[in-house]
Amino acid sequence: MKKILIAGGAGFIGSHLCDRLLDRDDVEKCVVVDNLWTGLKENLDHIRDPRFVFKKSDIETFRTSERFDEVYHLASPASPPWYMAEPKRTISANLMGAFRLLDLLVDNGRFCFTSTSEVYGDPLVSPQPESYRGSVDCTGPRSSYDESKRCTEALLFEMQRTKGLDVRVVRLFNVYGPRTRRDDGRAVSNFLTQALSGQPITVYGTGDQSRSWGYVDDIVDGLERFFWRSPHDYRGPLNVGNEREISVLDVAKYVSSLTGGTPIVHKPPVPQDPTNRRPDLTIARRVLPGWECKVPYEEGVRRTLDWFQEGWKPSAVA
Ligand code: UDP
Repeated sequence: MKKILIAGGAGFIGSHLCDRLLDRDDVEKCVVVDNLWTGLKENLDHIRDPRFVFKKSDIETFRTSERFDEVYHLASPASPPWYMAEPKRTISANLMGAFRLLDLLVDNGRFCFTSTSEVYGDPLVSPQPESYRGSVDCTGPRSSYDESKRCTEALLFEMQRTKGLDVRVVRLFNVYGPRTRRDDGRAVSNFLTQALSGQPITVYGTGDQSRSWGYVDDIVDGLERFFWRSPHDYRGPLNVGNEREISVLDVAKYVSSLTGGTPIVHKPPVPQDPTNRRPDLTIARRVLPGWECKVPYEEGVRRTLDWFQEGWKPSAVA
């Protein structure tokens, strides 16, 4: 029986991962540590499982005498306005969080980490294979996130090389869906929040920049397979995302069409906004046979809109 710790388990993706972990019958205890900076306690309020424990704490300073068989490191903001507002805290959550989690792992335990497609920066090749080393600016406005994810990957793969650490590292591409914060600030949630509160949809720059938008259920399905179900010995980094690349303007137009023609306004471009992003899934297909993104983006955005509408409280919007 396994003891599991999920750092960042109250977050958007972390809380979905918790649900999957609690479906396992080899789990004795599942501890979520989250400081509720970007995570929300309400993402976990539905859990009634007696094996589940929530601890509000920064992961870097989390105190416990317990050791865990598996740790999952999702403790980081992922939205540019949030991580850009607190770069030191972002770097600390990723890197110092990883140091602390390494201390909490039993010998031969497994360390799972959600890295990001941001390690590819503004990519000069498309789609991006895991072997692509990226085009990142270590002094740019996105660096606290990009570089702390890169450095944490370096730490983990070097621990694997020198100590045989059992690591599993994924690189996620623009995940969206239910349980995103309404004030998250990323494209899909911003557009839905704006449309539902009667404001115009804000497109930064021309909107020609593109992303590969992954619906959360598909992405967490990939995580589950890679983190604990795949018998494969590939440890990553592994791209997990949707291969269909869509421009920001097309997303804005789609949300507008779903919400009765919400107007779209263009705002100044964001400095160093990546122009494109698309995963090469060759390794994912080999390592996770049968896994694919099943929810088309149109359907995923509709489901997210339904979810935003269900719990819609205009006063909760920041
Ligand atoms: N974006 C936009 N309007 C918004 C929020 C985001 O045009 O209100 C753009 C943003 O400039 C970027 C894309 O949407 O080109 C994706 O941004 P997001 O913050 O969702 O993710 P990331 O930049 O980390 O890929």
